[in-house]
Amino acid sequence: MKKGLEKLADFLRDRPLILASCALICAVLGAVLLYNQVLLNRTVQTKLASAEAETLPSIHWYDEQTTAPAATTQTPVQSIETEPAAAEYVVNTNSKKIHKADCRYAESLKPENRAEASETQIPDLLADGYTYCSVCCG
Ligand SMILES: [Zn+2]
Repeated sequence: MKKGLEKLADFLRDRPLILASCALICAVLGAVLLYNQVLLNRTVQTKLASAEAETLPSIHWYDEQTTAPAATTQTPVQSIETEPAAAEYVVNTNSKKIHKADCRYAESLKPENRAEASETQIPDLLADGYTYCSVCCG
């Protein structure tokens, strides 16, 4: 191995032009690689900067998205809360009386004559011949 290196050294010593051109090529290649590295660094940095600029509004967008489902999850809760209020009336389909849900007559209704009604259904029920209970709605 040492002999081989010595042979190579002798070979290069005899041909300084080859050594010089090799050194020149190495220097040029090194410079080109360094320049490419600098260029790459710059492009990466600018890309990172632009990516940062792009991610900032998107983070803001996700924030809006995370608050938006919170708002939409509140809506079903509200609709669930309003649902008992929607059925705040109980009607006797046999006697065609409209009771409030907490009326003692509504509580004693037979299941086959009992129907729940919301306030929006009351006009239709009145048109259908239903009347208000005089005890709870009088
Ligand atoms: Zn009643």
